[in-house]
Amino acid sequence: MVDKTDNANGTHPLIGKRVEVLDKGFVELQALMGNDLSIVNAARVSFLGESKGEEKDRKLLFYLMRNRHTSPFEMVEFKFRLRCPLVTWWQLVRHRTFSLNLQSGRYTPFEENDFYVPDVWRRQSSDNKQASEGTLDSLEGDALTQELVEHYARSYLLYEKALQIGVSREMARLFLPGFAVYYTGIVKVDAHNLMHFLHLRMAPDAQHEIRAFATAIYEHFFKPALPWTAEAFEKYVLQREEV
Ligand SMILES: Cc1cc2nc3c(=O)[nH]c(=O)nc-3n(C[C@H](O)[C@H](O)[C@H](O)COP(=O)(O)OP(=O)(O)OC[C@H]3O[C@@H](n4cnc5c(N)ncnc54)[C@H](O)[C@@H]3O)c2cc1C
Repeated sequence: MVDKTDNANGTHPLIGKRVEVLDKGFVELQALMGNDLSIVNAARVSFLGESKGEEKDRKLLFYLMRNRHTSPFEMVEFKFRLRCPLVTWWQLVRHRTFSLNLQSGRYTPFEENDFYVPDVWRRQSSDNKQASEGTLDSLEGDALTQELVEHYARSYLLYEKALQIGVSREMARLFLPGFAVYYTGIVKVDAHNLMHFLHLRMAPDAQHEIRAFATAIYEHFFKPALPWTAEAFEKYVLQREEV
């Protein structure tokens, strides 16, 4: 059986769905190629076969995940439009298996509200140099947020001033608060490499901001698009259940 529902014609109901993340970010699905059956059929090509009905297909997909037979999972591709603060892109671009293209601050001026303002301030972890634990109390936190917003406003004023006196956009952006700037980009990745990303970036030791994006991708797009794959991924990768 050919996986006629592989969405190659771009009609999947998830396409166009947008989920808000953090204060000004989002994840939007732009394209989706394939489904659970595309993975099963790709595996069955090994002996020139195709779908053998739901029960056997599902069993085969779980077998593939359990035995790290990964290439059939590369037959499914997701393309997202993401709006993330630079601190998140900084971590996301390390995933070399993603194809991506980002907005350019050389072409497009930044807008005043394009900066990330966190809900809470996390404290530095005492035993993990890379992590945070606990939060500032709300009074202390609100005062710091106020300072952050003022800092952004001052940075943006300097940015605008530089543009007004004729400085190029590529240089004026030196005034902007780097890690906090929101950028929009398009990323494309196959299901195998997306699972690798999700495994690393939904983990408790990943930074909160990238976890928020990874979790949104997983819960709102990956799970509904690939329900069997998601179930097998949780069982054999996230929860590391042994055979
Ligand atoms: C909690 C956490 C903390 C981190 N801290 C830091 C840090 O302090 N500094 C820092 O620089 N990075 C840091 N990283 C980024 C990390 O080192 C990886 O670059 C990132 O997670 C991408 O993982 P990856 O290389 O497995 O994925 P991808 O780049 O998507 O690659 C997928 C897989 O392809 C293979 N592959 C890809 N390219 C090559 C290659 N050139 N050679 C061989 N095999 C390849 C590998 O098997 C790899 O696992 C951190 C990541 C996490 C999750």
